[in-house]
Amino acid sequence: MKKIKQKIFIVLTIILVSSNIIKAQLVNPCRTVDVIEQEESLHPGYKARVNAMFEQSKRIVEEMKSSRAVNSDTLYRIPVVVHIVHTAPNENLPDSLVFSQIEVLNNDYNRWNSDSTQTRAVFKPIAGSLNFQFYLATTDPTGNPTTGIIRKTGTPAIPFVGFNAFQDNVKNPDEGDAPWNTDKYLNIWVCNLNTIPLGVLGYAYPPTGAANWDAASYTDSAKQGVVIDYTAFGRNNPYVIDPGVAPGRTCVHEVGHYLGLRHIWADEDLCAEDDGIDDTPKAGAASNFDCDTTKNTCVDVGVDYPDMIENFMDYSDEHCQNMFTQEQAAIMLVNLITLRPDLAEKAPLYGVGFSQNNFENNISVYPNPAVDFINIDFKSIRNNQVKIELIDNAGKSVLNKILDVNNDIHAIDISQLTSGFYYLQISNGRYILRKKVVK
Ligand SMILES: [Zn+2]
Repeated sequence: MKKIKQKIFIVLTIILVSSNIIKAQLVNPCRTVDVIEQEESLHPGYKARVNAMFEQSKRIVEEMKSSRAVNSDTLYRIPVVVHIVHTAPNENLPDSLVFSQIEVLNNDYNRWNSDSTQTRAVFKPIAGSLNFQFYLATTDPTGNPTTGIIRKTGTPAIPFVGFNAFQDNVKNPDEGDAPWNTDKYLNIWVCNLNTIPLGVLGYAYPPTGAANWDAASYTDSAKQGVVIDYTAFGRNNPYVIDPGVAPGRTCVHEVGHYLGLRHIWADEDLCAEDDGIDDTPKAGAASNFDCDTTKNTCVDVGVDYPDMIENFMDYSDEHCQNMFTQEQAAIMLVNLITLRPDLAEKAPLYGVGFSQNNFENNISVYPNPAVDFINIDFKSIRNNQVKIELIDNAGKSVLNKILDVNNDIHAIDISQLTSGFYYLQISNGRYILRKKVVK
């Protein structure tokens, strides 16, 4: 399938070589930039307001950084509703893929992803994480219990043929499924985007509707959310067209847009353009599903970094994506708090005064070496949710668990693992403990 995509790309590039916008669509699995263009054509001034919002967010980030508020010990719980709109049986994806997508979101936003170890040394110090917990909604807008997964037969999505023909019809209740209150739920639609031949895997809208915006000009909250092609949703999707999206990070990327992030190459094939994020190196162009660590398309001021193919907001192969930067994380948090203020439920992450030192000192692991069980004693850690992961010598994650801990001891069964060295990683989304354990 990859060959088909490349072939079409070559043919159409010859025809349309003069158009940056259309060229971007062809190599571009994500249509967020194009939906912004679409909105601009329907509602002139939309782009200016998106830009104004972004600049405003950056100012708030600077203020929050200086006040350290961005480091508050708060967990942001984000309810998700997944609308699976299908026109054929295989598009009606199983719950297991939905669950895996939620897990990928939580791993990547909290930097719990086991391949965070693959971030190049030059970028590790600026890798960012958030205290976000995405979860399938348990209550629907009318207050009734729900699984957070809606299944509906729909009419086929209108294919993308130039952005002006784009209809977004999956959100129309007659053709797809209407959103749940977009202020209170992260709506994710999964459908057939007729991704061949254009290679569209998803799109999202950045936040709009801030109090200081012109409310009369654009207030279409019914469009807020993320749309993902059914072949790119979840981890190891059996219908995946390009193996480069198998890790399920198309949705991570689109949620990044939904929270106000831009592509790291700033949607222009120019080094002069910047994504507005200081700690992402400049990139002259999107990666084309590659993992080229030698690439350095632009000269950066000060240290000249290579292109950050690890970034979720690039178009690199998703197997080599593994990070947001600290400033990207800060922008997303600010946008969540200020522009989507009713979305997340806030919960204390841990007690006042908690620190990395406390976290380490209040966890003990024994015996080590171990045979069948490792005991993890969370001494005075109360009301925390932690993720534990065992990673083998080859960097492969062999055990993965979320534990609710409250000053107690948890026994982890390792009887099925082969003998050898493992890295035990314990994290509560902010602090992390890594220990080498031997079986
Ligand atoms: Zn994108």
